[in-house]
Amino acid sequence: MARIYGRTPSAANNPILAGIIPPGRYRPVPGKIGGVKVVALAGGVGAGKFLRGLVRIVPPEDVTVIVNTGDDVEVHGLHVSPDLDSVTYWLAGVADRDRGWGRAGETFRATDELRRMEAEWSWFGLGDLDLATHLLRTGLMSGGATLSGATAEIVRRFGVAARILPMTNDQVTTRIEAVDETGTAIDLHFQQYWVERRARDQVKAIRFQGVERAAPAPGVLEAIAAADAVLLCPSNPVVSVDPILATPGIAQAVAGRRDRSVGVSPIVAGAPLRGMADKLLPVVGAEVSAAGVASYYARRGLLGGWVIDRADAGQTARVRALGIRTVVTDTVMTDDEAAGRLARTTLAVALGVDT
Ligand code: GDP
Ligand code: CA
Repeated sequence: MARIYGRTPSAANNPILAGIIPPGRYRPVPGKIGGVKVVALAGGVGAGKFLRGLVRIVPPEDVTVIVNTGDDVEVHGLHVSPDLDSVTYWLAGVADRDRGWGRAGETFRATDELRRMEAEWSWFGLGDLDLATHLLRTGLMSGGATLSGATAEIVRRFGVAARILPMTNDQVTTRIEAVDETGTAIDLHFQQYWVERRARDQVKAIRFQGVERAAPAPGVLEAIAAADAVLLCPSNPVVSVDPILATPGIAQAVAGRRDRSVGVSPIVAGAPLRGMADKLLPVVGAEVSAAGVASYYARRGLLGGWVIDRADAGQTARVRALGIRTVVTDTVMTDDEAAGRLARTTLAVALGVDT
């Protein structure tokens, strides 16, 4: 086994890699791995951080990101796609690293005014810069563009070279069936559960409304089938990755690439770094642990490899027992360099070479 990547340009010329990817496709790119087609399944922030690392390792043109749209919502008549925007903002380098979501240097004057006017859904804070994206998207779509078409335009205008695809152009909505503090059954849009009510309700079930009739967006299945590596970003398995996998044909396509399909655990030391995965995993019968998420994916035949944090090293044997190549490393992406190291390790596991 040999190293697949190093700091020197010549390391990108590694003959081992040339043997792994189809003949003729390998191309040396100084400091990066050229010619490897990478697909990443992505939610929002965890994915955005990871993808910034990934495009340090492979040329961004070789990366296709398939993004969850179950969180999408119409607010003030605008089509808002939180995960598509998070991924775009992170890759464009305009994301707010501290807050996690939205854009750096953001202001909220329009939202403040909407709240003063008691506009419906004004609890859903949309930044002023962020609003420009939603206006552009909504305008393009009312002019006849599909969500894919509008996304490609937005991505281009942000100068992002990676291909970013919504999982579907059809409407799929993540709904949370829960019980509130008075014991009353409620049925909420994911954003009402998470942003408005701050995950305080007891969740009974999660459903992706409309998914049975949804078709994968153009290019999604083709990208997975042609990928040398399929990476499951460290995103919420239940409300970020599952809507993608529930879109007809996608889980099957990923299972078809199982040997090259590798995920990064979004659970570190028994808890999510942010978000509510700890509340939702038990609802779908998964344990809140690195091994629990691995087995949740593996029971659908989706996982060839799994990358877990050093804090969870004790679970390595459990994951390996599922027949999954398991690697322990630092997975907390404090900066782009850390994300780059994590992406390199993850890619190496997918390609079946040493890091
Ligand atoms: P969204 O922005 O709410 O859509 O969030 P995602 O679904 O992309 O991500 C939420 C998950 O990402 C949580 O389970 C977090 O633990 C995980 N996450 C966020 N940052 C990191 C990180 O630096 N490392 C790892 N391993 N997971 C992370
Ligand atoms: Ca999300």
